[in-house]
Amino acid sequence: MSEQSFIEKFEVTAVNKDGSQKLFQAPKKIYPKRVEGTFRQLKWVIMTLTLAVYYITPWLRWDRGPFAPDQAVLVDIANRRFYFFFIEIWPQEFFYVAGLLIMAGIGLFLVTSVWGRVWCGYACPQTVWVDLFLLVERFVEGDRNQRIKLDESKWSFSKLKKKFLKHSAWLFIALLTGGAWIFYFADAPTLARDFFTFNAPLVAYTTVLILTTTTYLFGGFMKEQVCTYMCPWPRIQAAMLDENSLVVTYNDYRGEPRTAHQKQALASGEPVGDCIDCNKCVVVCPMGIDIRDGQQLECITCALCIDACDGVMDKIKKPRGLISYATLFEYDKAMAGEPVEQSVPILFRPRTLVYSAIWALAGLSMLFVLATRSRLDVNVLHDRNPLAVQLKDGSVRNGYTVKILNMEPKQHKALLKFDGLANAKMRLEGMKGQVFTAGDLVSLDLEPDQLHVLKVYITIGQSHLPNSDQDFYFHAEILKSKEQHKTNTKFHLKK
Ligand code: SF4
Ligand code: SF4
Repeated sequence: MSEQSFIEKFEVTAVNKDGSQKLFQAPKKIYPKRVEGTFRQLKWVIMTLTLAVYYITPWLRWDRGPFAPDQAVLVDIANRRFYFFFIEIWPQEFFYVAGLLIMAGIGLFLVTSVWGRVWCGYACPQTVWVDLFLLVERFVEGDRNQRIKLDESKWSFSKLKKKFLKHSAWLFIALLTGGAWIFYFADAPTLARDFFTFNAPLVAYTTVLILTTTTYLFGGFMKEQVCTYMCPWPRIQAAMLDENSLVVTYNDYRGEPRTAHQKQALASGEPVGDCIDCNKCVVVCPMGIDIRDGQQLECITCALCIDACDGVMDKIKKPRGLISYATLFEYDKAMAGEPVEQSVPILFRPRTLVYSAIWALAGLSMLFVLATRSRLDVNVLHDRNPLAVQLKDGSVRNGYTVKILNMEPKQHKALLKFDGLANAKMRLEGMKGQVFTAGDLVSLDLEPDQLHVLKVYITIGQSHLPNSDQDFYFHAEILKSKEQHKTNTKFHLKK
């Protein structure tokens, strides 16, 4: 199989009677059967971890002192801040968040090019919540056969009770999911109290309502339809895969010709493969597909069919791995009867090295910028109208608004000065009678996490006026940390 034909296999399998491709296949309810095995265990572990992270994170506390919220992860929209443990991001530093999103995207490309759609199969929220909803469904209604029987049976009190229980549990999970989300945007304990006493803002109730509804619909009803028809990732991922990417593969060179009657076939001298056509790999599949038909767009590589088939192989005393994670390279080798050895290490090949390099570069740059970023910012706005004022004694005055931003949740003493402008005098609004010359230090108290705004006037006497407009600067320094910031501006002679 060439790489092209391998990629071409990632197509929607639904076709019309005339052979043309269907845009949408009417959903058929899927009843995935419970399965035991290594990958199922791994999925339980990942499901528990991801759900725990999602539900618990807003309740974690992080002491930032008395002037900042103590929630470890908080998107503080009202004050336009993002807190992540010891990191505080201001709106002007939003590029960190953009950088993190780029890293997440490149990371996903890297993981997909090596391990295929593991994100879809194990960690995607849709997969995790569908798994949780299926767990509830199985608990209330039983495994596959019992659920099919229940759905086919007439309505009775027992059926009504089971359906009511299942949907109530689904709605409760959906409500918890929507509820947890809003706690990322406000102090969780306060919002929880306000929410239940109906004192929370309307947007909180609306968000919970929308997320509860979408979780309930996506996790309980649409399930695999979301992955197949709504998510763009299955279409994009084909470009990330090559002959060295791991995908769940049915090793047909070993399984075919399949037969459910192996003994008779052997007795009559017919060739038989290892597949006993038991359909176990099909009934456990949450996407309702048969991996023996080859790679399909719907396959999320959850590997539950591997677990199911390995169980069957154990029972019939054949080697495991009739369905396995394999690369196209390995498959082709095995198909040709050659020894299967991955000649190119799947982690070290041009595609993965490029992804890794971009990912590492983005990560290191962000770490560097984060470690060396200044927590003090000085912004100077020159008065526009007029730029300069000629006073009665012939001297010229310029007005400025100096904004000093203390980006730390701590109070600081700071020193401000102007320099680079000979014979100029500085006056500050609110400091009547005080005059400062170039290099003189003005002592300031900076409030934690606040913008300190000063109205400043610079005047030069008539006899010292320069011939043209002059550049000079304002400079601020935090006394304790010695952190400094300098901003250039101009002194204008004419309005
Ligand atoms: S075919 Fe196998 S790996 Fe793919 S979705 Fe179904 S069970 Fe999961
Ligand atoms: S579980 Fe294995 S043996 Fe059974 S049908 Fe699937 S591939 Fe064949």
